[in-house]
Amino acid sequence: MFKPLRVLLLLTLLAGVAIGAWRDKARATGWHSSLQVAVYPIAADDSPVTQAYIATLSDESFHDVQDWFTAQAAPYGVAASPPVQLWLAPAVPVLPPTPPQVGNALQIAAWSLQLRWWAWRRDAGPHPAPQVKLFVLFHDPAESRAVPHSLGLEKGLIGVVHAFATPAQAAQNNVVLAHELLHTLGASDKYDLSNNLPAYPLGYAEPQRQPLWPQARAEIMAVRVPLSPREARMAEGMGETVIGAATALEIGLTRP
Ligand SMILES: [Zn+2]
Repeated sequence: MFKPLRVLLLLTLLAGVAIGAWRDKARATGWHSSLQVAVYPIAADDSPVTQAYIATLSDESFHDVQDWFTAQAAPYGVAASPPVQLWLAPAVPVLPPTPPQVGNALQIAAWSLQLRWWAWRRDAGPHPAPQVKLFVLFHDPAESRAVPHSLGLEKGLIGVVHAFATPAQAAQNNVVLAHELLHTLGASDKYDLSNNLPAYPLGYAEPQRQPLWPQARAEIMAVRVPLSPREARMAEGMGETVIGAATALEIGLTRP
């Protein structure tokens, strides 16, 4: 084939992917109907503990996220009821493509396309095609004390969440899951990347509180409850988190 024709075909394909991603994102944050979110469990290691934990999961395992979103969206008069519907999708026997450790923009773009293609081929089970796909990689806590960073991609509405395979961490796993879900919908991080402390005022659940510290809850995109100017602790469950005004604007609950 002539080179100009090949380039034209590639550009047409990429433009198609970009327009598709923009349309999917606009639908997801329109809040006219329930946002369909599928959670795909994946064993990140070959520990029997991880397998046994995945076998205990059901739709019920994510109801606290669904109910939390309903409560958080209520003041904004959202038409969809519930605004977000989460369900368990079939377990995936393979790992998603890993992001480049230190990649240039081109390598990151290539990985993002690869991940979207990988996600597109996953079976949703008996449910209709989900709008957002969250792949949760479970780790046996006896084998991994810390897990890799989770991520949520706005382009393609895909999250890759790292979680611990133990009931003791289930509530906190869901906090990370909700955080990444909101990233896919366009929410930005609201903490200082150098020290993990919530950014003031946008990363505070109650920025007007007197005295300011300690706060009782975390803004979901800051994930930590500010205790003092230099201390914050991870939110332990959905009940300790809120959607702040800036995040609500980013995900379309309010309009500018
Ligand atoms: Zn984040």
